[in-house]
Amino acid sequence: MAIERTFSIVKPDAVKANKVGTVVGLLEEGGLTVVAQKMIRMTDAQAKEFYGVHKERPFFGDLVAFMTEGPCVVQVLEGENAILRNREIMGATNPEEAADGTIRKIVGTNIERNACHGSDAPETAAVEVAFFFSGSELAALAR
Ligand code: ADP
Ligand code: MG
Repeated sequence: MAIERTFSIVKPDAVKANKVGTVVGLLEEGGLTVVAQKMIRMTDAQAKEFYGVHKERPFFGDLVAFMTEGPCVVQVLEGENAILRNREIMGATNPEEAADGTIRKIVGTNIERNACHGSDAPETAAVEVAFFFSGSELAALAR
């Protein structure tokens, strides 16, 4: 297995519920390391571009409103098979279908307000990390 980096968001619902630590704890217990992290308030333009793949979906407007309603925490996670591992720790998109012990089962509310985002492939991970973290922020991670 390879050491990978993936992009993660603790979404505004989880931040509002004071569950940042719960989410980070589950990521860490799952074997991932937070190697970069910052709290931001996503702009409307950022949310629309970040979720551009979903722009034709009926939930797009609500999703953009949700992601910009309050602060979120953007992260770079590192570990063995980090992209897939993070998706396992997150659980299914719909918290009602998420396995016990997953972030979305424990912290999520519904299919929209589902506590976290995680990249779904190496290509999207690279694009998403670069979307929120500058070259100088990432250069600081080199070791
Ligand atoms: P995932 O976040 O698990 O990769 P998707 O990429 O399909 O899921 O969707 C992106 C985000 O859009 C979801 O995490 C969720 O916040 C929202 N979403 C997905 N499907 C729906 C839906 N049917 N209704 C409302 N919001 C949705
Ligand atoms: Mg997705």
